[in-house]
Amino acid sequence: MNDWQHRLLRFAAYWNLFPCPLCGHGAGDGINRFCDACAAKMIPVKEPACPACGGFLDTIFGRCSHCQWEQPRPWLRAVALYEYRGAVRDAVTRLKFHHAPHLIRGLAEPAADAVRRTGEPVDLLVPVPLHWGRIWQRGYNQSEIFARYCAARLGVPCCRALKRTRPTPHQLSLSRRERLANLKGAFAVVDPEKIKGRNVWIVDDVLTTGATLSECSRTLLQAGAKTTRVLVIARA
Ligand SMILES: [Zn+2]
Ligand SMILES: [Zn+2]
Repeated sequence: MNDWQHRLLRFAAYWNLFPCPLCGHGAGDGINRFCDACAAKMIPVKEPACPACGGFLDTIFGRCSHCQWEQPRPWLRAVALYEYRGAVRDAVTRLKFHHAPHLIRGLAEPAADAVRRTGEPVDLLVPVPLHWGRIWQRGYNQSEIFARYCAARLGVPCCRALKRTRPTPHQLSLSRRERLANLKGAFAVVDPEKIKGRNVWIVDDVLTTGATLSECSRTLLQAGAKTTRVLVIARA
């Protein structure tokens, strides 16, 4: 940073020209970070993390107590940044329902760091797609914005390699079995050449049961991806 940029940042900090994008009043240090008060309300997932879901590994069996009862995941590792509560839950809700795509910037930097820390290969980031009806309502796909910022920080491409073939009802109202049936064949690969032989990270906002991410992962592997891994903002 040169002297002029340094002065400008100091000046901006003095007048709080870049407030925290989440609460709107704390010092946001540019618009790329949340203020200290908001950051304190974001709870990182405790270490060690479960490789299957990214949540806290609360057993000695290599998978957490939730994942013990799940089908083996089709991905090699899942990385989740935070627990889905506090300021993180607030940020994700606003991202999805209150048109606040700028909140992503404060999350992308820690996400890219978390991916780097795994030391595992990353060739390409692929966001979980939304059906066009959702895009029409919301105006954007929050997972795609998140994926784009992370990819830029990691220096790898981000690609809309998946599309939804049909709208799927909200998963929350469905039983486990209905969920899986609901998603069967719901995704297709748009451009198989882009993912063939590549180590793909699938990016989403929240991992709850993992049913959506599993279907995306299977679709990519069937189309020739070498491996899949998962990156999410939060583990619910
Ligand atoms: Zn704040
Ligand atoms: Zn787990």
